[in-house]
Amino acid sequence: MMQVQRQAPNIKRLLDSSNSFYQDLLGYKPEQTFLEQIPEIQWNKFAEQRGLNHNSSGIYLPRNQTAVIQEENSLSLFHEYFGHGLYCEQSLIGRRLVDLERRLLEEEKQEFQAKQFNLKDIQRFRQQNKTFQELDEFRRQNLAQYELFAIFTEFLLSREFGLREMFERKYDSLSEQDKRAISSMINFSQQYGDLATFYAQGLARRTTSERVKRLLEEVYGKKAVDNSKLILLTGSKKPFSDIDLFASSDYLQSSQNDWLDLVVFNKGDFEKRLTLFDIQLTHPILTGEFVCGDKTYLDYWKQRLLEQPITEEAIQFNLQRAETNKEFADKSNSKKDKEDSLSYFNSYLRNARSLEQGNRNGLILNSQSETNIQLKGGTE
Ligand SMILES: [Zn+2]
Repeated sequence: MMQVQRQAPNIKRLLDSSNSFYQDLLGYKPEQTFLEQIPEIQWNKFAEQRGLNHNSSGIYLPRNQTAVIQEENSLSLFHEYFGHGLYCEQSLIGRRLVDLERRLLEEEKQEFQAKQFNLKDIQRFRQQNKTFQELDEFRRQNLAQYELFAIFTEFLLSREFGLREMFERKYDSLSEQDKRAISSMINFSQQYGDLATFYAQGLARRTTSERVKRLLEEVYGKKAVDNSKLILLTGSKKPFSDIDLFASSDYLQSSQNDWLDLVVFNKGDFEKRLTLFDIQLTHPILTGEFVCGDKTYLDYWKQRLLEQPITEEAIQFNLQRAETNKEFADKSNSKKDKEDSLSYFNSYLRNARSLEQGNRNGLILNSQSETNIQLKGGTE
């Protein structure tokens, strides 16, 4: 039998395939990160000059967003370039790290330009430099997450490209604490999917309806999504805001975390409240982006909101909702809850008054209140 020799796929191919993988999954890939490959034979010298641990096979330099790796080391490519590199481009923590490093670099240039200096001089300068202290503190607070993300990237890409054994050897060499942290992240990704894992780690959310559908299927299961009557993408859609979703479904439940805010009404409640022109529903119906479900049902309700009669009951309902939100704002101790409720109070009141005059101008929240409002769950 012929012996098949396993060889690490070359870096160029891995780079291209990983870029496609990220582009497809997240809608972006590293763009500003430089890659520098050092031939293996020169690596020891490089590591020594940089004062790196002699086992290391790569380094990432935030100040010039450069990943330096041992020429053919796949795991280092994953860790430094796609791990730290992408994190520094597409997460707020990473961007802040790069900013601070750059500021420090500028200040050091100013201090040492046209001067002879050695390592001691730099150390002395840093000790009394404010930016360095800020950077040092920032690193201390965020280093664990920054590092964990890069190790998770190694896991993810080695899984994608059939290099699991390589990752497992590396995993064995980690400290117990790192092993626990990385296992919990791997478990999370196995339970909720890759997209959810990236978003939970604070990576930019570039939402499209296809991507959101995939996210929901991975988090809640394909069946729950397929059986839902209607799912819409609402809210600001900014890359570092949470993803706001609105659904009519008997198979999903409202839930909220740092990166996802899903508001669900069961079918009966959904239809009843739309009949009453409840702005918590009319706004997403009229402005939301269709993700999945029954498009005809959405179009039906859009049309019906323009045509159905305005009843006294609907006016009273909106007045009542305004009142409830006012009471809530008065009682609330949290500044954000207070603002949200006041904003709702204003919108319901405006809607009730419009309806009284026979017009439907109040069904869409005005853009100013839209940024303040997060639609809350379906039941009070
Ligand atoms: Zn690292």
